[in-house]
Formats: sequence, structure tokens, C-alpha cells
Amino acid sequence: MKITDTVTGKTKLLGVIGDPLEHSISPKLHNTLNRCLGIDAVYVPFHTKKGQFEHAINGLLAINVYGFNVTIPYKNDVINYIHTISKKAALIGAVNTVKNVNGRLYGYNTDADGFIKSFMEETGMEPGGKKVVIFGAGGAARAIAVGLALRDASKISIINRTVTNGYNIVRMLSNNTDVISECFSTDDPECCQVIKRGDIIINTTPLGMYPKIDSSPISFPFEFSSNQILYDAIYNPSSTKFIQEGKKQGLKTVNGLGMLIYQGVRAYEIWMGVKVESKIIEKLFNIFQNLDNII
Ligand code: NAP
Repeated sequence: MKITDTVTGKTKLLGVIGDPLEHSISPKLHNTLNRCLGIDAVYVPFHTKKGQFEHAINGLLAINVYGFNVTIPYKNDVINYIHTISKKAALIGAVNTVKNVNGRLYGYNTDADGFIKSFMEETGMEPGGKKVVIFGAGGAARAIAVGLALRDASKISIINRTVTNGYNIVRMLSNNTDVISECFSTDDPECCQVIKRGDIIINTTPLGMYPKIDSSPISFPFEFSSNQILYDAIYNPSSTKFIQEGKKQGLKTVNGLGMLIYQGVRAYEIWMGVKVESKIIEKLFNIFQNLDNII
């Protein structure tokens, strides 16, 4: 069915604000949800250049936008315009989902929930009680660390190029959660043992992401410990070097597609107050399985 057959004078407006947006999968994901759930809404890109952000937010409020996602580079800046921020988004320090209720903007971060849901569904395991190693200390690492800490992971070890960025996450975790956390610089000789002791090893750096597909957060050859779970936040390519090495060594591996899909589904649930059924989520996985054809 064409969009001209479905958009009416009552259609709810959703979208994503960011720059760049050309490769965003969000319009396809959310319009698929609109169609599958039979909800009268349309989701469009709100491509906004730096310097125009405040105008864009005021414009979205003026035209009574129903809800929107926020992506690079505005996930932090948008907090200045939010009236009520969720506890998770405040801890993460970033908002990726905004709901407009009568001109009041409610800010959420669905990346933490997206990661946890993906991890649990795709590994069949609970993160509670697990020792986790996270490569990277940017936005994705922060969201994943908060998600894991709130699900009772026992320890989070961050390994990052710029150690001060890692310490910022450690400080936030120790001030606000019960998880034990520590941070290492990537060239610290202890990293090797830290990695071997982890139950779950997560890559949140762009190392391995298209087009630099030969890079990885770990220098191989490296022998993982048995039963470790490897999770790569990267979804393009679907199998990074990090994931391929884990598979070769017989480990359970998960890529970032699930996190991407579940964070979008959670945003949609917040806007619409619905529960998206697993058969619709399966459909999303089928559509986005081969991202090379889409982005
Ligand atoms: P970010 O905020 O820019 O953080 C990137 C992190 O990676 C930083 O800690 C940075 O270290 C480190 N890093 C960058 N280049 C590096 C290099 N050449 N060598 C070593 N470390 C390097 O980015 P982000 O938003 O967290 O995104 C990171 C990755 O996660 C991207 O691949 C993105 O596609 C993916 N992601 C996936 C999802 C999903 O839904 N699956 C969601 C968000 C992000 P410094 O601190 O030293 O700069």
C-alpha cells in the first residue's frame, strides 16, 4: 500500500532528528511497525544541521509532533529541551526517544533496554551475576553499562583508548548503582587477563565496522576462555572480525542488529502505549537481516 493511501488529516507525526540521516534504518523500521500494528502514524527524517537544532525542536513542538527519536550529534544537546527525563536517560546522559504530551517533552533512552532485551532473547541468558568486559567508553558503552548494572551484573570492566572516558563511566556507575566497576587503558598489560576472566565480552568501539572490516578491539591470535559470550554492537557487517574469531573458537556470539531493532521497538512502545508482539519483531529481523541491501 502506498503512503498516499494511508496518510490522512489525523495521521500522527513521528520522526528522527539528526545529521546525517541518509543511512538511518529508523524510518523503515517505524513505518513497518505503523503498518503491522495498523496505527495511523507516519515516521520521517528531520535532517537538521548544526546551528538549527533549537529552531527544529521549537518547530516540532509548534506542529505538535507526536514523538521523535534523536540521533548523532544531538543525543546530549536535546536534554536541554526536555521537561521530564527518565532515570535511565539521566544516568546515561543521553536521550534517544522523546514523547510530546500536550507540549511537554518526555525524554527516554531506549539503548540500554534494547541491548538487554537483545542479549537475553539472543543468548537465552540473564546478565545478573555476570562479569562483563566492555571495549569502548562512548555513548553505546554508557547505555550498555547502565543496562547491565541495573540488571545486576556483578562486575563491569571497561577497556578504552582514552582512559579518562572510561573513568567517567566508572564514576557514574559507582555513584548510582551497586555494580563493581573498573577501567583499563587498551595498552595496560593486565587487559589480557581481564578479558579472559569475563563471562560476557562486548565491543562498543567502531573497530570492525564497515568499511574498516579488518580491525578489531582485540589483536588476534587470542585464546578466549570457554563459555564466554561475545557481543558486538556493530551491525554492519553482520559478522565482524571479533565475531568471526569467537565463532571459530566455538563461542556464542551476537551482533548489534538485535540492539538496534529492540531500541526502536521500545521507543515505539513508549510513544504508542502498545506491546509489540514477538511475531512482528521476527518480521523486523527478517527485513533487516541483510543491512547491506538497505543502508
Ligand atoms: P562513540 O560515542 O563515538 O564512542 C566510540 C568509542 O570507541 C570511544 O570510547 C572511542 O574511544 C572508541 N574508539 C573509537 N575509535 C577507536 C579506535 N580507532 N581505536 C580504539 N578505540 C576507538 O560511539 P558510539 O555511539 O558509542 O558507537 C560505537 C559503536 O557502537 C559504533 O560502531 C556504532 O555503530 C555502534 N552502536 C550500535 C548500536 C546498536 O543499536 N547496535 C547503538 C549505538 C552504537 P575514545 O574514548 O578514546 O575516543
